[in-house]
Amino acid sequence: MKVARILILLALTLAACVPDAPTPGNRPKPKDNPTEQGENPPAGGRQTFNIYLGNTHAHSQYSGDAVQENNEPSDHYRIAKGAGYDFYAITDHSQYDLSEEGVAETELARRWAQILKEADNFTDKDFVAFRGYEHSENNGPGAKGHFNVFNSNTYLNALAAGIDVKYFHNWLCTAANKNVVVSMNHPSETQYDNFACYNEQVRSLITMIELINGGSCNDHYPAYLVALGKGWIVSPVAGSDLHGTNKVASWPARTGIAAKELTRESLLEAMRAHRTFATYDSSLKLMYYVNDMPMGTVFEAAPAQLDFDISVTCSNNIKKVEILAGNGVVVKSKEFNAKTVSWHETVPVSNYKYYFVNVYGSSATPIAYAAPVWLK
Ligand SMILES: [Zn+2]
Ligand SMILES: [Zn+2]
Repeated sequence: MKVARILILLALTLAACVPDAPTPGNRPKPKDNPTEQGENPPAGGRQTFNIYLGNTHAHSQYSGDAVQENNEPSDHYRIAKGAGYDFYAITDHSQYDLSEEGVAETELARRWAQILKEADNFTDKDFVAFRGYEHSENNGPGAKGHFNVFNSNTYLNALAAGIDVKYFHNWLCTAANKNVVVSMNHPSETQYDNFACYNEQVRSLITMIELINGGSCNDHYPAYLVALGKGWIVSPVAGSDLHGTNKVASWPARTGIAAKELTRESLLEAMRAHRTFATYDSSLKLMYYVNDMPMGTVFEAAPAQLDFDISVTCSNNIKKVEILAGNGVVVKSKEFNAKTVSWHETVPVSNYKYYFVNVYGSSATPIAYAAPVWLK
């Protein structure tokens, strides 16, 4: 009994010795701090991550509704890289051009391969380019809505006969797609036939939801709350959904990803683990831990209390941070007026299945939405 008490004390002391993660914005990039790269966390300690900012949704000329000059995947990647994005995804529509009627299979395969080739060309230690595809289910029958599929070797024509959301969910769950990661795109509150799930396995593959979409930065927050309420384990992302390159450099929003390093593999792992946020401010970086576990964690056993440790940096002042639960209920709120804020707050666990964090700048609606944590 005494030994057990000493061990617990020792464990608590060790845990207290693990330094807090530095504020995300001040963190050196791995290349500046090689000891950090790939380092395993101390047992019982907290894993540290770098915050990367980019775009998870754009269309090149390989989308039938985006045929215009200077709209090659390489144009997007080049401009994004020059504008300081850490990562950028081309997610062309699969229902035309990639699956165009009357076009030889060899040409369709060439187009699909070309996007990956260009993504590979632009990927280096400072920038990760993705090839994804947008599965735009517009004709049902039944559920309608769009998804972005990342890291698949093939794609489905969303508008082909027999392809509906049920088929898509089942297709995602096949062995060939075990490494894909999927986001729900620009959803309405009743999207996907009220966020229906046709294959429980698909919940581990559809891990993100687009809260910010487009040049005008429409807000899909109400749909996010519906999706969470329906049991989807999805974290916020932001997609420009640009169909040309004119606004790539000036797009103000970003998807934030908390990853170990700037590689395709590491970013995909983070997307799979729901360590993402969506922000309207391209300079904003955030990270939070609950009981030393990173945002996006699904707690298998509900802890007695939730110990939030939140860090945000931004080139514009942060005015408020909220901890929310359930259908957007504010559990705790704290006001700030600084470009770098950190907040340590303990929340008792009640009946809520998930908690999340919203960040405010000078406007009445949030400037950033951080991934939830879930309690099973
Ligand atoms: Zn779409
Ligand atoms: Zn799109």
